[in-house]
Amino acid sequence: MMNRTGVYVHIPFCRKKCLYCDFPSQAGRDGHFEAYKDAVVYEIDHSAELPVSEIDTVFFGGGTPTVMPPIFLAEILEHIFQYAVAPGAEITVEANPGSVDRESLRVLRKAGFNRLSLGAQAWQDHLLRRMGRIHSADDIARAYEAAAAADFDNINLDLMFSLPGQSMEEWIETLRMAASLNPAHISAYSLTVEEGTVFGRLFGEGGLQRPDEDEDRLMYYAASDILGAYGLYHYEISNYALKGRECRHNIKYWKRAPYIGFGTDSHSFYDNTRWRNIHSLEKYLCIAEGSDIREEINRVTKKEAMEETMFLGLRLNEGVSEEGFRRAHGVGLFEIYGGVIQKMRNSGLMEQAEGRVFLTAKGRDVSNYVFIEFLI
Ligand code: SF4
Repeated sequence: MMNRTGVYVHIPFCRKKCLYCDFPSQAGRDGHFEAYKDAVVYEIDHSAELPVSEIDTVFFGGGTPTVMPPIFLAEILEHIFQYAVAPGAEITVEANPGSVDRESLRVLRKAGFNRLSLGAQAWQDHLLRRMGRIHSADDIARAYEAAAAADFDNINLDLMFSLPGQSMEEWIETLRMAASLNPAHISAYSLTVEEGTVFGRLFGEGGLQRPDEDEDRLMYYAASDILGAYGLYHYEISNYALKGRECRHNIKYWKRAPYIGFGTDSHSFYDNTRWRNIHSLEKYLCIAEGSDIREEINRVTKKEAMEETMFLGLRLNEGVSEEGFRRAHGVGLFEIYGGVIQKMRNSGLMEQAEGRVFLTAKGRDVSNYVFIEFLI
């Protein structure tokens, strides 16, 4: 039987760098789009893994894939289609509301993309400007309408909270505006201020006022309450979906299913081995027979594999099943982690029911603390 795998394609370009962003993406490299497309196609055509796999999810992320001409994205997808792609595969492209229109979305839909992930972030222009985003609140509604007109019926909206200058009222308005568009999925992340970004520098200088920790938590609870009222159930720490519209590609990450990454900085997990592609765009563009573009190649040990099952699986509200753990690792969940699980249960951070262990609402608030417990 062929291995079922996901495919990730990294597009490392954006029109402008957002002030909080530390993702591997660059602005002002438009002159490299075609060469990059050719290099990704070369890597896909020479994949050792794809010919022996059945692909059931594809995800074009970035960066902002849609700053590239849609025909380039279509061409890359066409090269993925030369392999076995399962009927009904989920095929996602990320987009910025300011980088798509009806025509470009029509080309992408026709090429085979069937899920669109729009980086909406907030519904207030002053917040979008503050973040350095290229779009306005009107652009979000326009992009959403254009996507629906182009026949995308599986749309995700990415939102962010705990933004500098953001009030609770504005966050609630953002949630309501987003949910009232009837998307199949919403991701809602609390802003992390990363070193090396403009926000990181401003924060260090005391020039960035953000909601405090208590308000951050209230914003988090508001997301679950409001989105739940629109039928978007909370299935992962930061993700909400209509039943059956959970992001199948991301679930692979949380369930340790295989995926192969293409393009600079992409990550892969296949045959119990993890690796990352090189960061250098210049080197990647020179890809050729025998090029060494994979770095940090690590065979996952049995101990690491069990730890991953816990700290990735517990991100999902359904948690980790005892049976799945035994199937994956040949040993009982409680034999390995009985002590930690008991400690977390005593603190009210985890619960156990119907053969599964999972985080409680309190546990989700301090999930990083819980995850670290499973690394000891
Ligand atoms: S659009 Fe996304 S990837 Fe690009 S700079 Fe902004 S946050 Fe980063």
